[in-house]
Amino acid sequence: MTTPVYENFINGHFLKNQSGDTFAVKNPATDEVIYHVEIADEFIQNAAIESAKQGFAAWSAMTPIERSRILLKAVAILRERNDELAKVEVLDTGKPWQEAECVDVETGADVIEYFAGLAPAQVGQQQMVGNDFYYTRKEPLGICAGIGAWNYPLQIACWKSGPALAAGNAVIFKPSEETPLGAIKLAEIFIEAGVPAGVFNVVQGAAEVGQWLTANPNIEKVSFTGEVGTGKKVMASAAGSLKDVTMELGGKSPLLVFDDADVSQAVSAAMLGNFYTQGEICTNCTRIYVHKNVYQQFIDELKTRTEQNIIAGDPMDPEVNLGALISKKHQELVLGYIDKGIQEGATLLTGGKALSPASAPNGYFVEPTVFVDCKDDMTIVKEEIFGPVMSVLVFDDEDDVIQRANDTHLGLAAGVFTKDIQRAHRVIHQLQAGICWINSYGNSPAEMPVGGYKQSGIGRENGIETLDHYTQTKSIYVGMSNIESPF
Ligand code: NDP
Repeated sequence: MTTPVYENFINGHFLKNQSGDTFAVKNPATDEVIYHVEIADEFIQNAAIESAKQGFAAWSAMTPIERSRILLKAVAILRERNDELAKVEVLDTGKPWQEAECVDVETGADVIEYFAGLAPAQVGQQQMVGNDFYYTRKEPLGICAGIGAWNYPLQIACWKSGPALAAGNAVIFKPSEETPLGAIKLAEIFIEAGVPAGVFNVVQGAAEVGQWLTANPNIEKVSFTGEVGTGKKVMASAAGSLKDVTMELGGKSPLLVFDDADVSQAVSAAMLGNFYTQGEICTNCTRIYVHKNVYQQFIDELKTRTEQNIIAGDPMDPEVNLGALISKKHQELVLGYIDKGIQEGATLLTGGKALSPASAPNGYFVEPTVFVDCKDDMTIVKEEIFGPVMSVLVFDDEDDVIQRANDTHLGLAAGVFTKDIQRAHRVIHQLQAGICWINSYGNSPAEMPVGGYKQSGIGRENGIETLDHYTQTKSIYVGMSNIESPF
């Protein structure tokens, strides 16, 4: 059976490359090639820049309310096609249908809708300075590059294009080569909604294509989602032409469970924050610090619920709530971390092996895994694993646990479970993380800015402030009286 071949999406349509080079995309749950994608060669890269220049000219000349109206049409189409798009995401990523059906498209559409609403609300300032005055304009940057990770491909494309397009920019987006189809679908939807050709372009390929984007002097900004190490390379390359950067990077986030917490709720949060999307979520609370008074109760309930309530298998089965990891290579990496945890002396509470469910025997599954008796200096406690592997640690002193939670170069997210309202805020204010939850974990509505402290990121996505990352301020001084000159 021949599989489809997708071309790059440039200037409002698919465009064939000249090299003829392609790459294959596999369904992680079956290990089968599902389609091929053409790599963006030099011809495509040049065409993408020309296309984005023209797209920018047309789009930035429109009024914000016209742009808003068109983006809202795209939002409506995204919602209408929810199931078709969710299926694309399941086949590309291996995540369960029961998640993609209600989260991936929905949260992407929400963010475009949010920024479409804000587009006409952007205003400059005006101030008198003596008899003269100045005013400011919020102008778009020009061509922005988006580079995405593979865990939420369509959502990431929406989160980057929403604010960029609302502010009047053009975008060249490169999805991960593991999950390239969602961004193409979004590009088609933008065209159908009336976004002018060239405003949103999709280039395909691996790191080389990303490197070309970050080095290209025609591009004003790079918004990147991916690993910390890649983020550093992207930033170094972007520095060559002093591009603006937004970095959404990895994490090793702590969840603190105090002894007055609702333990069942805390277990729910810990499971969601480690096993949702089979653990491939940047904000996951992979270090769970539990107060010694509730430690045993916590791990007993965690073990029971993990062993009884998790169903791995064909991700398209609506009953399945644990999907396949993105690739064989990633599965091996995660299993390698589990081995390391055992070698370094952590105790396996449950899980620890590769899984081969009857409905998806060739998929890259890993059992939901919980380590207890963990120590702060263990590799599994220090490094991002990006799989269904939870480390549980014990504490008995508030100040001490805050210091331990902060003892990392990462700072993406953090959570606290306690019924003491003063402690909740006192502790969360001291945690060095950009996204924090109290008696909750993982929700990320369009209205709330998200991003990392320390090496987990630069800038924010979502929330009003993100528009500032996609605009530049022009100040205009207006002389109302004769110039006084010594010359
Ligand atoms: P990577 O850093 O490997 O890749 C991210 C993107 O960058 C991909 O499109 C990749 O291409 C591309 N890329 C790779 N090398 C370069 C380079 N030198 N220059 C430019 N682009 C490059 O991340 P993953 O895809 O493995 O995603 C997992 C990581 O993403 C985790 O660390 C996770 O925490 C983080 N993440 C952060 C989020 C946040 O909001 N903070 C959200 C989601 C994930 P290709 O893959 O095609 O090679």
